[in-house]
Amino acid sequence: MIPPIANRFVAGESPAQALDHVRRLNGRNVKAIVNLLGEHYDDRPPVRSDAGEYRALAGDIANSNLDACLSIKPSQLGLDLGEDVFREELEAVVEAAADHGVFVWIDMEDHTTTDATLDAFEDLAREYGGGERSASDQGSDAGVGVCVQANLERTRADVERLADVPGKVRFVKGAYDEPADVAYQDSTRINREYRDLLEYAFEHYDGGIGIGSHDPAMIEHAIDLHEEHGTDFEIQMLMGVREDAQYELADDHSVYQYVPYGDRWKSYFYRRVTERKENVWFALRAILGR
Ligand code: FAD
Repeated sequence: MIPPIANRFVAGESPAQALDHVRRLNGRNVKAIVNLLGEHYDDRPPVRSDAGEYRALAGDIANSNLDACLSIKPSQLGLDLGEDVFREELEAVVEAAADHGVFVWIDMEDHTTTDATLDAFEDLAREYGGGERSASDQGSDAGVGVCVQANLERTRADVERLADVPGKVRFVKGAYDEPADVAYQDSTRINREYRDLLEYAFEHYDGGIGIGSHDPAMIEHAIDLHEEHGTDFEIQMLMGVREDAQYELADDHSVYQYVPYGDRWKSYFYRRVTERKENVWFALRAILGR
């Protein structure tokens, strides 16, 4: 069982607990991106098991009429075992999710995975679309999206390439420690890249831009760009981070909360707690009972 201290960042260990959390979010006008925690599997059984859980989850989301989609790490679906394994498992999840009208995001991992991830995304987006409503999916928003990282030097070119692909694109600053020959190291530069990428996307994309950031300056920039160009966008933030802002922004914008769950929660929780000193204090206070 997840200790109360981790409940702030992780929705529980079971799909039912995750969906209970999604129901509460939907009640406050916030949609959900559900992620089963798991990554870097080096044999097939956990890949098969997680892929099966995602397929079942898509059915549960549809049957419970929840406003939620899925988000999956490539190495959770076998990328470390080979691109063919990853593609086979991912396509089966996207197909099952599409049957239920559920959208699937592909998270982006470190720079060694970018080509394989974008190639798989592009093929699937051309087949399943990018979340636009269609008669065949009974008015729901099936399709695929992918994440791009502003810290990687290659991303400007990737973002231009993706302008011709129908899927949605989530913009993040980048969570991985990348080497200096492929990635900007300085946060001022990464912020500038992030702004520039948004400017390009709002001007050239047909729709479906995800702002995966808690940064008030970047969210404000996206809102201004939306007002200028009219391009559709959604704000995406993590469970447990700036939740008051999520509820407030949801009054005027489409807001999604990224909701992780599953029994592999410890390393995710550790990352969240250690990324900001305020969170370390929060954890210590909870442990000391104050
Ligand atoms: P930062 O640059 O960390 O901070 C900027 C400002 O935002 C801060 O000064 C503060 O005002 C505010 N802020 C940030 N964090 C907090 C906080 N905890 N509490 C209060 N205020 C805060 N990365 C990937 O590499 N691949 C992915 O697939 C991916 N998916 C993501 C999906 C979502 C929905 C989100 C939100 C992030 C994702 N990330 C992903 C992580 C991302 O790359 C960043 O590492 C992470 O979001 C931190 O950057 P930031 O833009 O939120 O803000």
